[in-house]
Amino acid sequence: MAFGKNSGAGLELMPDVKKTLRNVFGFKDFRANQQEIVEAIVQGRDVFAAMPTGGGKSLCYQLPAAVMDGVAVVVSPLIALMKDQVDAAQELGLAAEFVNSTLSQEEFFGIMDRLDAGRLKLLYVSPERLNLEGFAARLKGVNISFFAIDEAHCLSEWGHDFRPDYLALSDLKKKFPSAHIAAFTATATKRVQQDIVKRLNLDEPFVLRASFDRPELTYRVIAKSSANQQITDIIKGHNGESGIIYRTSRKDVDSTATFLKKNGIKALAYHAGMTPQQRQKCQDSFKRDKVQVVVATIAFGMGIDKSDIRFVVHGDLPRSVEGYYQETGRAGRDGEASFCYLLFSRSDIFKIRYHIDNIIEPAAAQQAKSNLSTIVSFATKNVCRRKQLLAYFDEAYPQENCSGCDVCLDEVETEDAGTNARIFMSAMARTEQRFGIVHIIDIVRGANTEKIRKFDHHNIKTYGARKSYSKQYWSALADELIGQGCIFQNPDRFNALQLTEKGVEVLYGRKDFFMTKFVEPKSAAAKAVKKHQAKEVNPQAQALFEHLRAVRKEIADQKNLPPFVIFSNKTLKEMAEIAPRTEAELLTISGIGEKKLESYGAIFLAAVREYQ
Ligand code: ADP
Ligand code: ZN
Repeated sequence: MAFGKNSGAGLELMPDVKKTLRNVFGFKDFRANQQEIVEAIVQGRDVFAAMPTGGGKSLCYQLPAAVMDGVAVVVSPLIALMKDQVDAAQELGLAAEFVNSTLSQEEFFGIMDRLDAGRLKLLYVSPERLNLEGFAARLKGVNISFFAIDEAHCLSEWGHDFRPDYLALSDLKKKFPSAHIAAFTATATKRVQQDIVKRLNLDEPFVLRASFDRPELTYRVIAKSSANQQITDIIKGHNGESGIIYRTSRKDVDSTATFLKKNGIKALAYHAGMTPQQRQKCQDSFKRDKVQVVVATIAFGMGIDKSDIRFVVHGDLPRSVEGYYQETGRAGRDGEASFCYLLFSRSDIFKIRYHIDNIIEPAAAQQAKSNLSTIVSFATKNVCRRKQLLAYFDEAYPQENCSGCDVCLDEVETEDAGTNARIFMSAMARTEQRFGIVHIIDIVRGANTEKIRKFDHHNIKTYGARKSYSKQYWSALADELIGQGCIFQNPDRFNALQLTEKGVEVLYGRKDFFMTKFVEPKSAAAKAVKKHQAKEVNPQAQALFEHLRAVRKEIADQKNLPPFVIFSNKTLKEMAEIAPRTEAELLTISGIGEKKLESYGAIFLAAVREYQ
């Protein structure tokens, strides 16, 4: 081991580290927390780091690997992810390889030879591979700088991606007593953190919990009506940018994907019912910008390291805030402004409740119920969405206004709906609180149904009192009455609507009732998506950006790599803005280091030149 725990070598090394940051990675500065983590690893400490997606975790172990003696062994759960990471590291000029079941024997032996000869800086392995006796024995003969455990939450049963094969990593300290371990995760809960530290037997680790705020994400909740049409509106508002559409059921995944294709959008479906090959193909097409959107169940997740996802739409209510945070977190990894839309309808709550009723284990059912109630609050409370998300992870958000959610942007207007609420609740009271939402709406809208005739409900006072309001309006009003605790659906009485004490107060005019201003849902999605387009763009830079993108795509296709591995969108945008003429100018752009300059400098300088 080059640097012992107390050697203090890290500080002397910092100039080296800074230089590597600039020359190899092409970055001028560390992002928040990266420097501390890099220092701790270089100084030979165990590390636990929880950072949000896009926080820049890879650099935290790739940089130490580059400057330390020996090879860093990176444990990574997904084969597809491993390949991207290695491709990206090699593009930076780092000696990186991976070992997993996809290698031929010949490739494997080649890599092992280079490993033995001390010519590798980074070796990515799957947990299964590390668990093989023979492989572990082989590693013992190698100078290992440290182990990095990526997606370390896979070790914890409390996390959302538990993987039994990760459990064997608990032995790592036994098998390699002098090795240091750095564990990384984007999961924010403290319970998972404690679990990871314990399972890996980390020795007085340097613990870093970054803020989980994602300032580049804007959150919006939209009243759901015709989901497929609304999703189409949102995608069309995003002019060819990449996005993910989450739907709960496979059936809805398929129906939405079909709908989008009919409307001329390049979309693919993704769910666990497809074969691994089909799923792999779908991921690849998305990564390589061959399709604009993937419509998926939550099975589509961890393997997605595409950095330029600009929007995520939830077509249905997610089951937990944690899930929602992770799924929306896949947007904006490159730090560029990105948008999250949640289509919300109260009827989704009942679908989730139905699933919960089928959970046998009481503790799990209880957990699912509490998850549901927090996500419902998130969607319905008129409180900053960001504040609510961070509160879930025990993080306080210091600002009054986040400027990045529909509540703070003042898009959620409220209106006095006292009169209509009274009409609605009066219809409930006059029918002895024995009927459900649909029937009460029929009464106030003056519908002529068999049920109304049968019960003589066309004779009650509020019958047809408000014909001019749409069914969607009334159902939104009923949602709000439920949400604000004025009425509830009684499951013991076939979901009949019943008044609460608070409802009675409103009914007799002793209390006001305000609701979120109702916008006909058809225009709601279009309206929301327009907001993000308002920002100014420089048309010339935009055109050059598109050109550079095409150049990048061509190189990527030729090299069979995802485009973002060549240059991120952020790098291309900066390039389009400054339109560099010299290599020195290129080097000032974030994401261009020496190796990338050597590989692509000439091509991109020419591309800029020919465009002017
Ligand atoms: P994570 O694994 O934490 O989700 P990544 O390691 O994929 O995040 O990094 C996200 C993006 O941020 C990548 O495009 C990466 O190149 C970029 N990045 C990382 N560190 C820096 C930095 N110090 N300066 C600028 N960009 C950075
Ligand atoms: Zn806010």
